[in-house]
Amino acid sequence: MSAKIIDGKAVAASIREELKGRVAELAQRGITPGLSVILVGDNPASQVYVRNKERACIGVGMNSQVIRMPETTTQEELLDRIDQLNADPSVHGILVQLPVPNGIDSWQVIQRIDPKKDVDGFHPVNTGALFSGEPGLIPCTPKGCLELIKREGIDIAGKNAVVVGRSNIVGKPMALLLLSEHATVTICHSRTKDLGAVTREADILVVAIGRAQMITGDMIKPGACVIDVGMNRLPDGKLCGDVDFASAEQVAGFITPVPGGVGPMTIAELLVNTYEACVRNG
Ligand code: NDP
Repeated sequence: MSAKIIDGKAVAASIREELKGRVAELAQRGITPGLSVILVGDNPASQVYVRNKERACIGVGMNSQVIRMPETTTQEELLDRIDQLNADPSVHGILVQLPVPNGIDSWQVIQRIDPKKDVDGFHPVNTGALFSGEPGLIPCTPKGCLELIKREGIDIAGKNAVVVGRSNIVGKPMALLLLSEHATVTICHSRTKDLGAVTREADILVVAIGRAQMITGDMIKPGACVIDVGMNRLPDGKLCGDVDFASAEQVAGFITPVPGGVGPMTIAELLVNTYEACVRNG
């Protein structure tokens, strides 16, 4: 059997297209959603991510502002800048690109962003809302993973879902989202014993570890839906996921590729969050 490949690039493109129409409708009422991204320091990967976010925003007709602050920025200077954006009515979404340089406390930074503008969904008000099943802004990557599963028409209720990874930005919110869709959810991490025995029980397997090609076909239940969040560079420079695609696609029913799976969805969901923040809070 060969798995159906879930084309995240195509799904993300259709989300952006849908959004373009809704943004155009808002524009007729004189409203343009605006995203401000703060980049502190000159981490090359962060610079690429920020550029992509800016381009995507402009592509759907939203305003985008990138605020570049030097590596030497102090915690106070960064918090002051966030306060200014919190107070600016033309800014509907604020995001501080992580990681921030040493010496800056990212937890303080996350807490300073107005939760209504927290389009990354990392503020404790938003993570608390997700925990409680209340409306709020949901972290973009897990939100994108759920959207891929749903748009593929895969039933989640009553299924065994396994999430490998328990980070605050992917694993934990992913598990909560699957739980809210009535899956029976198991979370695995580096201390999990016999990982393969757990993953082989998964009807839906979401992998966010950060280790190249760690999940192999023999760890996957035949017919399972496999969502690979991982983004790793192989020694030859090629991008690959946390799932060994070649062996996994022989066993899985559905699988996301890397690149072209979850990655494009993360940016699409950031745009959706910015739009939603604008509509909710004008
Ligand atoms: P973190 O490093 O924050 O978390 C990794 C998780 O994997 C931890 O919970 C860790 O367990 C677990 N883990 C590590 N080793 C093992 C192991 N041998 N067996 C089982 N679990 C293990 O990573 P992130 O969640 O931030 O990111 C995960 C991956 O997703 C990375 O490749 C990242 O680049 C990618 N990513 C992709 C995005 C996209 O848009 N496509 C967005 C965000 C991330 P423990 O807690 O015990 O240490």
